[in-house]
Amino acid sequence: MARIFCIANQKGGVGKTTTCVNLAAALAEAGQRVLLIDLDPQGNATMGSGVDKRALEHSVYHLLVGLAELPAVCVASEAGKYDVLPANRDLAGAEVELVELDRRENRLRDALRQVADRYDFVLIDCPPSLSMLTLNGLCAAHGVIIPMQCEYYALEGLSDLVNTIKKVHANLNRDLKVIGLLRVMFDPRVTLQQQVSAQLEAHFGEKVFRAIVPRNVRLAEAPSHGVPGVVFDRASKGAKAYMAFANEMIERVKTL
Ligand code: ADP
Ligand code: MG
Repeated sequence: MARIFCIANQKGGVGKTTTCVNLAAALAEAGQRVLLIDLDPQGNATMGSGVDKRALEHSVYHLLVGLAELPAVCVASEAGKYDVLPANRDLAGAEVELVELDRRENRLRDALRQVADRYDFVLIDCPPSLSMLTLNGLCAAHGVIIPMQCEYYALEGLSDLVNTIKKVHANLNRDLKVIGLLRVMFDPRVTLQQQVSAQLEAHFGEKVFRAIVPRNVRLAEAPSHGVPGVVFDRASKGAKAYMAFANEMIERVKTL
């Protein structure tokens, strides 16, 4: 049975998409069968996987509003060796259209039932909001991976997300839990980052992943080549960190 995880944080630019794409590629590299779902109308995870968002016949939008079935939407990422349910700007319209539909928060969950046996991991790249799209991700998932930068305001934003996850757990999806916090874009030379990192460990304990993703320019360059960072330069520090994170996830799912 596939384990389904949302990569979520309502802040933009915190490394959700980079984490989703590189974790997908690193898990695939480790022999896992992976499906990446792009739930952000910006389509960055789609492009970062080497799939052209402008040339899609069907996208996640069509799946959510019932205009296409999953096999018609699914494409292969040659670059990453995983499958993708791609997105583009069409998905922005889904937000409004979903409100009118039956089981509006459960559209993605219902669609994923058919493929649960086909993958080991399903990773959902959420948009930077707590919207109907994110809600579909949270309702479909077993857990949430929260990438965060070790900054002064990081903890403040975290409580809104954790409260949303608690509400979804209580009302819509009893399976949902926080799997862990992933420290990303980390710069150990910055004292404040070290302090926030230590605070996170003190406060959240086991929920903080051991792997730490450093700030690494190779990870930022990779998307313009349409290749995940772990494939673009596998010797880079960023790639190695995401490989370590993938191994940690493979271990962690055994305990869930
Ligand atoms: P989000 O999906 O949360 O908006 P992204 O993954 O798109 O965030 O990251 C925001 C920007 O930061 C992108 O330009 C990305 O290339 C860059 N970035 C993400 N992680 C790293 C990292 N570890 N090192 C350097 N740049 C990074
Ligand atoms: Mg993103």
